[in-house]
Amino acid sequence: MADHVPFVVEEECIACGTCAEICPEVFTVNETLGFAQVINPGGAPEEKIQEAMDQCPVQCIHWADAME
Ligand code: SF4
Repeated sequence: MADHVPFVVEEECIACGTCAEICPEVFTVNETLGFAQVINPGGAPEEKIQEAMDQCPVQCIHWADAME
């Protein structure tokens, strides 16, 4: 179990879809709500999640400590 998980700051997300393109196992854009959501925090290797974070144009994806 990963000790940290990605989360999206929904208010800052512009729903560009980049994170879901790079890492669809983890991120999806909710078209109705207008922001990206984490569907499966452990769905991809950390490096791939990090790449999605790095490519986010508004840098609104962050790591958080995982809850037990
Ligand atoms: S890359 Fe960033 S701004 Fe774009 S949909 Fe994902 S979280 Fe939102």
